[in-house]
Amino acid sequence: MNERYGWQVAPDPGRAVQPTCDHVDGLHEAPANAAPGCEDCLREGRTWVNLLACLSCGHIGCCDSSPGQHAYRHARAHRAHHIARSLRPGQDWAWCYTDEVYLRPARPARPA
Ligand SMILES: [Zn+2]
Ligand SMILES: [Zn+2]
Ligand SMILES: [Zn+2]
Repeated sequence: MNERYGWQVAPDPGRAVQPTCDHVDGLHEAPANAAPGCEDCLREGRTWVNLLACLSCGHIGCCDSSPGQHAYRHARAHRAHHIARSLRPGQDWAWCYTDEVYLRPARPARPA
């Protein structure tokens, strides 16, 4: 069994009404190094800026700053796949394409 790993909406002080996301249940943790890069960019011979992993199926796609925007396209092509997490080391966040909100890990704080 995998360690339980949840996500919660990151509070946004800039918004009067805090965003919500109803898609955080039943997510999978992205397998580490599932793919060497964006599968679609590799096939098309392109490069990417940052990678995102779909938390519904583990698809690896490139971020919105990349020319291909394949993570976004993946979420749009698979309507039940809402959330992808950043794979850049040290960036512990995920993005819900449906609600357009940032999520952060809901792990209990680790002892220092
Ligand atoms: Zn959502
Ligand atoms: Zn790509
Ligand atoms: Zn997916």
